[in-house]
Amino acid sequence: MTECEKLVLASGNAGKLREFGQLLAPFDFEVLPQSAFNVPEAEEPHVTFVENAIAKARHAAQLTGLPALADDSGLCVAALGGAPGVWSARYGGEPKSDAKNNAKLLADLAGVADRRAHYVAVLVLMRAADDPQPIVAEGEWHGEIVDAPRGEGGFGYDPYFLVPELGLTVAELPHDEKNRRSHRGQALAQLIARLRLGM
Ligand code: IMP
Repeated sequence: MTECEKLVLASGNAGKLREFGQLLAPFDFEVLPQSAFNVPEAEEPHVTFVENAIAKARHAAQLTGLPALADDSGLCVAALGGAPGVWSARYGGEPKSDAKNNAKLLADLAGVADRRAHYVAVLVLMRAADDPQPIVAEGEWHGEIVDAPRGEGGFGYDPYFLVPELGLTVAELPHDEKNRRSHRGQALAQLIARLRLGM
């Protein structure tokens, strides 16, 4: 695909859409959220990020007839055996809410000394619903979970995710700093590089 084409973002998550808008602003894609085409959220039944990202991208490409970019992402906590992982969005139960997710995370980690965690983002770009060779890119961001929320930026688990080398939570970072370092930013940089190389 060429860079001036329309690209549907296969997400209804306001935080992700805002970050993709910022990350893709320097490029010539016309980026449209799937809500602009009344595409409902896809099912995410799989146990791997990559399968869920493929399902979301294919769903959006199928319903719009346009190339679609999907992100399946989450928080993996070492002491919780990698949970909440692919269930990050609904960790605190239905209906999904960041506040409930964060409350459950803190309850699960009460009294636990090992606070290591990382964010994962798997991005899938499908040029069409039957694209046999979607572009898949992945990023990770390592940090620690803190007990008290700090900062107003970002979304999801960001007020509790400390970046140890900065001594700041992700919610305390300016958005361009988050985008430079984040799992999503790293994965998107890889994906753009591969697109440029025609891979
Ligand atoms: P998905 O829509 O299934 O990919 O859900 C991703 C979930 O992972 C989000 O709802 C957040 O709970 C969490 N998550 C992913 N990326 C981030 C991030 O950059 N900051 C905070 N939480 C995130």
